[in-house]
Amino acid sequence: MVHLSVAGIREMLESTGSVREDLFRQALRLKKEAAGEGIYLRGLIEFSNVCRKNCLYCGIRREGTRVGRYTLTDAQVLDAAQYAWRKGYGSVVLQAGEQVSEGFIARIERLVGEIGDLSNGELGITLSLGEQSAVTYRRWRKAGAHRYLLRIESSSPELYARIHPDDSRHCYEDRVRALESLRKEGYQVGTGVMIGLPGQTTSDLARDILFMKRLDIDMCGMGPYVECAGTPLAAYSEAQGGGTKEVLHERLEMTLNMIAVLRIVMPDINIAATTALQAIDAGGRLRAVECGANVVMPNLSPQEVRENYALYDNKPLALDSRILEQSVCYGERGDSQHFKKREKTAWNSGKYPK
Ligand code: SAM
Ligand code: SF4
Repeated sequence: MVHLSVAGIREMLESTGSVREDLFRQALRLKKEAAGEGIYLRGLIEFSNVCRKNCLYCGIRREGTRVGRYTLTDAQVLDAAQYAWRKGYGSVVLQAGEQVSEGFIARIERLVGEIGDLSNGELGITLSLGEQSAVTYRRWRKAGAHRYLLRIESSSPELYARIHPDDSRHCYEDRVRALESLRKEGYQVGTGVMIGLPGQTTSDLARDILFMKRLDIDMCGMGPYVECAGTPLAAYSEAQGGGTKEVLHERLEMTLNMIAVLRIVMPDINIAATTALQAIDAGGRLRAVECGANVVMPNLSPQEVRENYALYDNKPLALDSRILEQSVCYGERGDSQHFKKREKTAWNSGKYPK
């Protein structure tokens, strides 16, 4: 019985020893029952590190000077997608800093169409390109994208305000509106949070789980906050004792708890074992798979740009290959079972013309 209250979820998040082991076992069993036995792969294409935003934690923020800026060519994007298709990955994710020019929007629209064409419409296409207008989300959806990842970062408006600049480009309410707009445009909607942010409490994390439940999300990608040298939040966090090996390991363990608890609360959604887990521990992503995650995103960006997509320190440039020894579902898009059920209900209730 899941207690859907802040106190009930907090208690699960704080569990230790054999209670925690039971929690992980339950999450793994539920994953297999509700989301399938295997792991789905999404080839991650880090399209560009140019960003109009200035999130205080992120290594590719607009004012960051430590990365060389790049944008992939069409050929580089299509080669990566072709690779994913040939290898039977099932899906790709196109991710970038936030850009809103018509040139950018039209380019993504065209590339999404071309990725669809090269795979006879079979390769799943997820976008993670920040906040955009409803019209833009509609154009990309129409071009063939069908999943979208937009983390809320923290569902606490106060904490959100502390990790972002205080201006109109970094507005909590706009972020929530963007998530609602994605749902209306027919995407499988993914969100997530960072775990271990300065000042974040276990009650905040419990509320994050309830936020995701309330939003009825289809997918989740959440990971530990990892300091990125040169960013304002890293300086602040380190002054508070953050960023040490011990603290990073605590965040990793809490991220695993969050994954297990979310799996128990929302058994049929897709949950990613995120890259930041592997930045802290080589086996981090593997452990996430063992306590409820069912999606892994191998990096397919060209080698020469990978180090410039440096969101945080020690970001791994390749996947822990042990994950591919798990039962991987090759050649399947791996759509969210949660989404499929919701669509079926909408169809049966006459929401769509028959
Ligand atoms: N620009 C888009 C956006 O913000 O939605 C997509 C790319 S952004 C780099 C993807 C995610 O990276 C963000 O949602 C954020 O959670 C994560 N990220 C950025 N800096 C991070 C850090 N220092 N530690 C952990 N995750 C970080
Ligand atoms: Fe830009 Fe996304 Fe990084 Fe924020 S998190 S600075 S929007 S790339």
